[in-house]
Amino acid sequence: MALTQYKQFLTTNKIVPVNNNDGEMVKRVGSRIADAIGRYYQQQGLAEALEGYNWEFNLVESKEVNAWCMPGGKVVVYTGLLPVTQNETALAIVLGHEITHAVAGHGRERMSHQLLAQGIEVAGDIALGNNSQTVDIFNQVYAPTAQVAVLLPYSRQHEYEADHYGLIFAAMAGYDPREAIPFWQRMAAMGGEKPPILLSDHPADADRIKKLQDLMPEALKYYKPGN
Ligand SMILES: [Zn+2]
Repeated sequence: MALTQYKQFLTTNKIVPVNNNDGEMVKRVGSRIADAIGRYYQQQGLAEALEGYNWEFNLVESKEVNAWCMPGGKVVVYTGLLPVTQNETALAIVLGHEITHAVAGHGRERMSHQLLAQGIEVAGDIALGNNSQTVDIFNQVYAPTAQVAVLLPYSRQHEYEADHYGLIFAAMAGYDPREAIPFWQRMAAMGGEKPPILLSDHPADADRIKKLQDLMPEALKYYKPGN
């Protein structure tokens, strides 16, 4: 279902080409993070968890401040996010975070909860993909777009886990994890009446910043500047 939805999303949105600096940056940062995740899972003896992952990173034209990763490694960054990330390192922080949600199966968990809550019986992948209700839930979980009325926020625990491993993956990819603090502070400053999508499902409050600070010493152990 992820692959179908991803292809559909790309055909209905304008992809920024790789001969554009930003388009190239998204692919470059993305593949560095993906490499780091591959190495981390290998080291942990969990390489099979990434089976079926076929990474793809695309920057699409959209004012939305958002980015997401579908299961299978299909990633989208919206151009509206770049004025907030401001630099390559902060982009690596966001990608590390979003990709962790995918590889840690957070979306799958949220999707099962939602299916249960709506009384939908899971009769197999094919049945799921053909059911418009399940496609709606899929979109609410994986690809929050302006067309989706309901946003499903990540739980605190999922957020914490995505921050934790996201920092480690960014650091392993050669990006300074400390950039996460000013980035999430910039995100928090964008709250208010109509917060960006990324903020709606990833609350950036004082608690998050505090936890990021607590995670920093561990993340910095993985960071070798100049990689
Ligand atoms: Zn998150």
